[in-house]
Amino acid sequence: MPIRAYKHKHDANKGKIETVKQILKEYRKTAQDISKLQWQIFFKEGKFNKNQNIKHISSKLSERYKQTCQYQVVSILNSYISNRQNDFVEIVYNSNLDENTKFILLTINKSKAWFNEKLKEAKLKDKKTKKVVKTLPIEKHHYKLVRKIIKQTFKKNKFPTFKHISMQLDQKVAKIEKKKEGKAKEFDYWIKLSTLEKGKPIYLPVYKNSYFESKEGKHLNFLQINEKENDIEVVFLKDLPKKTNYTPQKEKISIDIGLKALFAVNTGDLYGRQFHKYLKHYDRIITQLQANLQKQGIKPSESKRYKELNRKIKEYIKNEINRLLNRIFKIYQPKEIVIENLNFQNSELSPQLNRLLNRFGMKIIKQKLKDFEERFEIKITYVNPEYTSQTCSSCGYVDKRNRKTQDKFECLMCGKKINADVNASRNIGVRSSNPMKFLKRRTVLRMLIRAYLSGAKNYACSSRACEVILSNRFFIGYYEPLKITSKEKS
Ligand SMILES: [Zn+2]
Repeated sequence: MPIRAYKHKHDANKGKIETVKQILKEYRKTAQDISKLQWQIFFKEGKFNKNQNIKHISSKLSERYKQTCQYQVVSILNSYISNRQNDFVEIVYNSNLDENTKFILLTINKSKAWFNEKLKEAKLKDKKTKKVVKTLPIEKHHYKLVRKIIKQTFKKNKFPTFKHISMQLDQKVAKIEKKKEGKAKEFDYWIKLSTLEKGKPIYLPVYKNSYFESKEGKHLNFLQINEKENDIEVVFLKDLPKKTNYTPQKEKISIDIGLKALFAVNTGDLYGRQFHKYLKHYDRIITQLQANLQKQGIKPSESKRYKELNRKIKEYIKNEINRLLNRIFKIYQPKEIVIENLNFQNSELSPQLNRLLNRFGMKIIKQKLKDFEERFEIKITYVNPEYTSQTCSSCGYVDKRNRKTQDKFECLMCGKKINADVNASRNIGVRSSNPMKFLKRRTVLRMLIRAYLSGAKNYACSSRACEVILSNRFFIGYYEPLKITSKEKS
C-alpha cells in the first residue's frame, strides 16, 4: 500500500505548540517503555503483541494514547525484525554450511522461531508437486546457531530507540475536521487533539495543501506530528492507488554511484555529469566560510549564513537525485534495479561533504527507490560495492591496476576499455543474485579471485597472462603457474 505523507502548514500559537511538544516528549518516553516490554515478549514468544496490556506502564498519556503509541511501536519493531530476517537469509546463503543445515536454519528463520524453539522439524517440499520430499529433525544445536546468527544481525543494526520518533496518531486521540461548506471559517482543517489533561483537547488550525488535495487517493484518518526546531510539523497521509498498468520494458538495470557522473547505468549511459562539479563549488564556499567563522570564534551552528548554505546544498542534492532517478526510471522502465549500498567517497570533496553525501544523499536515494518499489511493484536490490571498480566486467579479472584513472578502465588481462563507472555498474548488476552484503572486503576479493581462476585457462608460465597475474598482489597464495608446461616448452 503506497502511503504518502504531505506536510501541512499550521497556524497554532505558541501556547499550543508548547502543549504539543509536552505531549510528544511524554509520547517518546512512553514509546521507549513500551518497546522494552515488547522486546521481553519477543524473546519469550517470538513475536510482538500490539494488543498487550500496558496499564501498568506509568505515563501521563491517557490509556487511549498509550494504545495508539503501542501500535506505532509494534509496527516499527516488526519492520526492524523483517529486515533482520532478510539479513539472516544472506548470511546463511553465503556460509559454508551443508545444504541440509542451511535448509533447517532458513526454515526456522522463515517462521521467526529463533527464540521460541517451536519448530521441531523442517519439511522440504517438491517445488512442483508441493509434496514433502524430506523431513529433517530440528535439534538444540540448530537453535543455538540461529540465535547466534540473528544476534549478529542485531549487533550490526541497533534496535530502534524511539527517542526521536514523530507521533503517528489515529482517531482515538486526533480527529481531523474539515471546514464545513458555506461556513466562513478561516482555516481549511482543524485538528482536535487530546492532551495530557483529560477532557481538555486543543484545536490546531491547519491550512490545506493544494498538492495533497490534487492527488488521487484516500485521505487516511491518521496524521503525524513532529517537532522541528521551535515549531511543530503536521503531516497528513494519503493512500495512493497502485499503478497497476505498469509494464516493465527491461528485466534489470544496475546503477553505480559514480565519481564523475552521479549515476552510471550498465547500458553505458551517464546521468548527472555536473553533480560533482557543483558540489565542489559549494564545498569551496562552505569550507572558506567555516575557516572565517573559526577565526572569529563563531560556531557554524550559530551562523545564519552557514545554516543557509547547508540547507542549499541539501536541497541541491535532493533535487538532483530525485530528478535523475525519475529520468532513469522513465527511460528504462525496469523490473529490477540493482544499486550499490553506500559508497560515496570522493577524494576531491571535503570529508564533511562526503559524510553528507553518505548519510543524507544515500537516504534520499533509498527513499526514492522505495517509492518506485511501492508504486510500480518493482524490485530494488542493494549490493556490496567492494572491488566493483577494480574488476573487469568483461572477463572477471580483478586487479588494482585495471583502473587507469578516475574515469578510465582498461583490463590488463583481456584489454577491454570502458568508462570506469559503467564498468562498475555492470559488476553491480552481476551481484544481484548474491548481494554479499555481509561479507568482509577480504572475503569478497577471495570469491572474485576463485571465480576468475576457475574460469581461466591454465596459463603457461611464459605467457603474458601468467606474468600479469604473478605481478598482481591480490593473487598471492591463489595462483601457481604451471611449471611443467614451461619446462616442456624450453
Ligand atoms: Zn577483462
